[in-house]
Amino acid sequence: MQGKNLMDNRDQERKEFDWIWSMNCPNKMKSLLWLTHHGRLSTSPYLNSIGLNIHPNCHTCGHPKKDVEHIFFNCPKAVEFWEAILDNNTTCHKLDKSSLTKDTMQEIWQSTGSKQYNSILPWNALLPQCFWAIWLQRNTNLFNKKKDSTSLANTMNQAIEYHLIIKTNSRPIRTQQTIHVKWEPTAVGRFKLNTDGAVKYTPSPGGLRGVIRNRNGDWKLGFMSKEPQVDPILAELRALKQGLIMAIHHNLMPLDINSDSTEFIKYLTHNNHPYSNLTLECRSLMEKLGATVPTYIFREQNRVADKLSKEGLNCTSFGQLVFWIVPPMFAKKLGWADI
Ligand SMILES: [Zn+2]
Repeated sequence: MQGKNLMDNRDQERKEFDWIWSMNCPNKMKSLLWLTHHGRLSTSPYLNSIGLNIHPNCHTCGHPKKDVEHIFFNCPKAVEFWEAILDNNTTCHKLDKSSLTKDTMQEIWQSTGSKQYNSILPWNALLPQCFWAIWLQRNTNLFNKKKDSTSLANTMNQAIEYHLIIKTNSRPIRTQQTIHVKWEPTAVGRFKLNTDGAVKYTPSPGGLRGVIRNRNGDWKLGFMSKEPQVDPILAELRALKQGLIMAIHHNLMPLDINSDSTEFIKYLTHNNHPYSNLTLECRSLMEKLGATVPTYIFREQNRVADKLSKEGLNCTSFGQLVFWIVPPMFAKKLGWADI
């Protein structure tokens, strides 16, 4: 009965936030909106609630509560940005400034829908870019101790660029080419960590996995676990963090890392995104291991880790970490096929 309720809750959650995950915008923007709606964005109230001692005042205007509502709608910098956005709207599809709040975002999204903002952009191509631009500018200001305004021109240009690329590529002409790939051995004396995070829906329970092997492909250690609510990037980051901790505990270094997700690698090399705390933590662990930025590999070169993460998804308990000091049977065949 508990399992059924859990499934019902997950279905409910998916339906409730379908409007975010169906947006035509980069995943980092969807993640930002999802975290915003779940009270998990790295704002000072949230960071303080998890035990970090963060100064609560807005670094731009000094307001005592730097919450989501303030950051995106009420801070003078946000107000100035939204006014510029609304002033440049050249169609009859207007948006009322007073209607802009966190709780009305879904309503605004659905009411503006694909209506045009100007001759090129529909509202639904512009709005996610606006939230992202505000968030990015705030973080840039914080890191650089500045109070710059969010650029209307840059936001528009990026929205137009993405919108036109998506439109142009909506019916791609595909040509197929067969490429034979396999797991790549690391250099002599080094170890290789392959990680993966499997998520069926976004967000939903996810399976994390990782495996460390030596140059000959000999299994050193593996793990898998199941997380209650993650999106694909968060699953990949948590899998990496676990793999790095495991490598440090067992002195498996120096370490090379492979991943089959280019987006995850991009997240790991940038700071201005919702998971920057986790990426900083991973980078610090990587430094201890003499590891560089993960190298991209094809999914077919990551078969053992991919299989482990799917098995991780089938684990019965959330948060239960399973270690393998020898390869499990289901990974053994793939392991041999890999090398
Ligand atoms: Zn402020």
